Amino acid sequence: MNKKRVKKNNRKSFLFPITALFSLAICIVFALLFVGGEETIYYLTQMNFIPDKKTVCIDPGHGGTSSGATLGSRYEKDDTLRLSLLVRDILKDRGYTVVMTRDDDSDVSLEDRCKIANKERASLFVSIHRNSSSSPSATGVEMWVHSAKPTDDTLLAQNILDCFDTLDIMKNRGIYSGYRDGADLNYYINRHTKMPSVLAEIGFISNKTDNKKYDENIEEYAKAIADGIEMTLKEMYSE
Ligand SMILES: [Zn+2]
Repeated sequence: MNKKRVKKNNRKSFLFPITALFSLAICIVFALLFVGGEETIYYLTQMNFIPDKKTVCIDPGHGGTSSGATLGSRYEKDDTLRLSLLVRDILKDRGYTVVMTRDDDSDVSLEDRCKIANKERASLFVSIHRNSSSSPSATGVEMWVHSAKPTDDTLLAQNILDCFDTLDIMKNRGIYSGYRDGADLNYYINRHTKMPSVLAEIGFISNKTDNKKYDENIEEYAKAIADGIEMTLKEMYSE
């Protein structure tokens, strides 16, 4: 064997383990994504994220051209903004930094809502919505978390529901995971925020009694959400 051939073989034997390792890493990532699916993506999204303990993101659902659910001239986007601004004020008074994804009637994409929360390093994300049903008798408050049912997200949902329970105004419909139209899917905000998040459906806009309660008790509702958020932060960061 001449010198040139030996050199070439040495290079080959050096490159082989690197190529093999690289291929193996790619295979593992694909296998994780395939087997773990949504759960793996969820945990990969949250990696290397350092939240600010005193910062919370409140997301008033819809806005601008996205009215959300409606009943006559009543729009979900207006209800969610009214309630969200009250939640913001309560939390600010308690010393928290509150990041709003919108504070007026403007269009904000779901992508931008998540980007705002992630960039500001919010420790919790609460997206406020009103529910709607073709059945006018459907009533109550429900929470949606990621299909992986992460501990802190579920804790946040439970704490907000518990605080609503103490008001004894609205039926508690419980915590759901995933997405209404498909068990394998997730709400965008639950999938793309790096911090624990909840999509809160605060009563049915399609139910006149729920709307009356909403208008009459909006300050109590805001306090229930703020209390639920504060309880969760205390539990998450207690030593
Ligand atoms: Zn909505």
